[in-house]
Amino acid sequence: MKNSNKKYKFYLFPHIYYAKSKSNLFLLYNTKTGLCIESESSVCLEVIERMYVPANLGIAELNNNEIQEKSLSSFIKRVIEYEFGNLIEQNELGSDTMFVNFIPILNLQKDIERLKVEGKFTIGEDLLTYINELNIYVNNSCELECPNCDIYYKQTKSCYKTTSINNLSIDLIRALFENLKYSLLKKINIMGGDISKYNDLKRLLQLIDEYKFDFEFHIWAHYQNFSKNEFFLSDNTNLINDIIVSFPIEKEFEDFLINNETNNIFHFLIENESQYREIEKRFSHLNQYDIVPIYTGNNKLFFQEYICMEKEDILANIISFRTIFCNQKLNSNNFGKLYLFPDGTVKSNMNTDAIGNLNSITLLEIIYNELDKNTAWRKIRDNEPCNNCVFQYLCPPPSNYEFVMNKNNLCNLKTIF
Ligand code: SF4
Ligand code: SF4
Repeated sequence: MKNSNKKYKFYLFPHIYYAKSKSNLFLLYNTKTGLCIESESSVCLEVIERMYVPANLGIAELNNNEIQEKSLSSFIKRVIEYEFGNLIEQNELGSDTMFVNFIPILNLQKDIERLKVEGKFTIGEDLLTYINELNIYVNNSCELECPNCDIYYKQTKSCYKTTSINNLSIDLIRALFENLKYSLLKKINIMGGDISKYNDLKRLLQLIDEYKFDFEFHIWAHYQNFSKNEFFLSDNTNLINDIIVSFPIEKEFEDFLINNETNNIFHFLIENESQYREIEKRFSHLNQYDIVPIYTGNNKLFFQEYICMEKEDILANIISFRTIFCNQKLNSNNFGKLYLFPDGTVKSNMNTDAIGNLNSITLLEIIYNELDKNTAWRKIRDNEPCNNCVFQYLCPPPSNYEFVMNKNNLCNLKTIF
């Protein structure tokens, strides 16, 4: 770095992701090691930006004076030391050498907005390949009175009830299974209300038996409904039982939960730390269970402490370029999921508007509507404050928590409550 006439080529390796905020803080992220370099230096930023000018082919040309600048010099040292990129003296390449550095750029052939512009976005059988999870609410009646019935289902998979009682047409369910038989869908969740109150339960079980080689069926029920009904307790090997456990746990059901040695999957919905400790103490012996935090509006501190992400949480695992590109285009929490309600209405997320009704339009039209209107499948972090944050596409996509909190971020890096 001494000869004043020397020229250099500075570049980043193709597996380095670059992001900058509106306040000109920028981040380089190594998608192979998970390391990152953050900087607020306007000199360094200007050099990095140069690489992204298409005509510069991924390279920033620097002269000797430039690389003597203190902040740039130490930045370049860090980039080389962390194996994020390299600095080559022009002479080392020889005068005839054409040096090109390929910077990864998102270019999706099937980008919906692009297909729309090109007039190629049409309804076709291939739309079925987008569905990866189907959730069917066969009814919405239940005799229990769980205190937070009206909030669970908006945040996680759960039963729910309404005052108007509906039962989903069994013929509609059959038509749907037949339609999806040749799709890529493998798993179907069946939920209520209390499914044992479904008016066509017998025919539903026959249908499940008929399609057991096409799909894996999961039946979701609250533990109180589950443990009281013979239907759930019968040894039906075609079904996987997903049991929802909300607090407080009623005394009379404790034995049923504690001594459950089957392959049932338990989902504990918790609202505070003491409920978490109770599960760890009494239920951690269960074969399969998970713990789902529920936001009530009164447990902000619990969420701030345990759920809202810190920088370390975001960077805890190595994030691939594939995931980053994915986060720029679609919401992996929502993409491919459909929710069918007892009246035939379909949504892409429990918190969003309906995208059609299977009594009046086809499944393909419903998928088309979602791709066109984007109620949930392609909701990304493109709003304040995330669109002004270098972690915008490193963070997981918006979840149901953001929906119910009416916030755009789920972190402690920017104000949330
Ligand atoms: S069991 Fe489910 S549907 Fe019934 S009241 Fe409780 S949360 Fe609501
Ligand atoms: S949630 Fe949004 S604001 Fe918070 S770190 Fe992630 S991208 Fe940034």
